[in-house]
Amino acid sequence: MKYTDDIKWAARFVLRRTRDVIYMAAGSAPPGPFRSSITLDKDDVELARRLLRERESWFADDGTVARYETEFAVWNGSRHAFAFMSGRESLSAIIHALGLQPGDEVILPGYTCVVVANAFLFAGIVPVYCDIELETYGLDVSLIEKKITLRTRAILLHHLYGLVCRDYDAIIAAARRNGLKVIEDCAQSTGAMYRGVRVGNLGDAAFYSSEQSKIYCTVQGGMAITADGDVAENIREYYLAAKTPDENWIERQLYTLIMNYYRSKHPWSYLLGDVYEKIYAEKRLISTTQQEENGEKPHYYGRKMPSPIAQIGLNQLKKVDKYNDKRRECAARWDRWCEEKGYGKPLVVKDSVPVFLRYPVMVAPEKKRDTRWALRDPGVNAGVWFVSHLHPSNRRVEGCPNADRAVEGCINFPGAL
Ligand SMILES: *Cc1c(COP(=O)(O)O)cnc(C)c1O
Repeated sequence: MKYTDDIKWAARFVLRRTRDVIYMAAGSAPPGPFRSSITLDKDDVELARRLLRERESWFADDGTVARYETEFAVWNGSRHAFAFMSGRESLSAIIHALGLQPGDEVILPGYTCVVVANAFLFAGIVPVYCDIELETYGLDVSLIEKKITLRTRAILLHHLYGLVCRDYDAIIAAARRNGLKVIEDCAQSTGAMYRGVRVGNLGDAAFYSSEQSKIYCTVQGGMAITADGDVAENIREYYLAAKTPDENWIERQLYTLIMNYYRSKHPWSYLLGDVYEKIYAEKRLISTTQQEENGEKPHYYGRKMPSPIAQIGLNQLKKVDKYNDKRRECAARWDRWCEEKGYGKPLVVKDSVPVFLRYPVMVAPEKKRDTRWALRDPGVNAGVWFVSHLHPSNRRVEGCPNADRAVEGCINFPGAL
């Protein structure tokens, strides 16, 4: 029957909405979709729709990408910026630019995204995992030096959940003492400040992400920055050899943006989200395929950003500070909730301004395995980043007890409501 799927969809839709009403009647939040892409507004959707009509401009070298890179660099206080199609691909460009070679070792947090580990593995580099602390979920500097061998060339530190990592200065100092490069993973912390400077500017190079669940959204996108002229030249070399995604990909990305707006942000998202998800089901882009999670390098890997995505990036960049203010306001609410309920608050490092992409809280493991309790109090869908040491793959990292604890018990509340 021609309409069987549609009828099934409609039945599921009605069931889900009925469930939502029951939850709300019981004083809970409905277990709705994971809200991300909160920086998408109507103007971004209008821009995406216009770009979908103006395909002849997609591959024109009209200076849009360069303008996006320059505006990002100025806003971020960085000397050089290069726009790629993701944070992970920006990291691969940095790995190339720092001259890391197959067989070299790099120290990584034992609590990271699988795509970070992959970027090193794709280049033949050996990740050496070091444990994290549980105040900001960053590398624990007191454990780093034990991990250094004659083959160690670099340290990757991260600022997770939008928090500036606790040992930021100390890690940089340890790296300098040992002649190691520092790469900063700022994928979750675009805009966070430390001593009046945006994070990412203290190491040798850094990358940012505008993937759909991050601080700002181009659905997929990333930026590599550096202050070092030689490193910049090497990133440029990688960049010039990189391809842009094809027309079909760009089209899907723009439709996914529109869909995300209706799922996450439109005032009637509970009704329209499902509808748009169905309309654009064929177009929807996902960020990491199962194969990539398993460590396979996608055939398209290593792309730079094309003009239409940079246009979205330019529009989004204007809003980052405003939305980060909202995130901090929201965090103040979670601070109060933690105080009332007796949970530990994440550490805001002295002289830092975090951006709270998500607000992390350590809870009992059973409360992470099933987070429905959070729908009632505090009344939100709790996130579960990270579900594994190399999120979201099921690859394990051994010898990092704090990372084990975070995998078991760190949940997070939304950075904005
Ligand atoms: C999302 C994320 C990345 C990768 O960014 P993409 O743009 O998705 O490639 C890297 N590190 C961390 C901590 C992230 O959250």
